[in-house]
Amino acid sequence: MKTINHKPSTFLSIANCQCPRCRQGNIFTHSTFNLAQFTKMNERCPSCNFKFEIEPGFFVGAMYIGYAMSIAVFTTVCVAIVILSNFFGFATSVMMYVSSIIIATIVMIPINFRYSRVLMIYWFGGEQAKYNPELASQNK
Ligand SMILES: [Zn+2]
Repeated sequence: MKTINHKPSTFLSIANCQCPRCRQGNIFTHSTFNLAQFTKMNERCPSCNFKFEIEPGFFVGAMYIGYAMSIAVFTTVCVAIVILSNFFGFATSVMMYVSSIIIATIVMIPINFRYSRVLMIYWFGGEQAKYNPELASQNK
């Protein structure tokens, strides 16, 4: 039995889409880059049996986080186009902005989907989603 002496980093646990309670089990069943199945989640943590959908409709709130992430993408793309057009001296058009935003949004769908849900669990999971070191050490 391996004991964990340090608390795993919250940032790395979120980045790796791991369970907020034990920080070992994966929230999602497949990779982000598996475009056919990137939405599939484990119902419960494979390591500590924590139920990820804490209450019915819990992930509806993740849409708001996803919306904020989409706005961040829009803003980043627009600022990048302005900076690049000034630096390289090319003319911009509304179509350039719109098409760039649409492409960036489509490319970001898997990341946006997954991290909005992961952040929803970490931020709004309540006491039951808090890190529990006893659970982290009992399964290894
Ligand atoms: Zn867990």
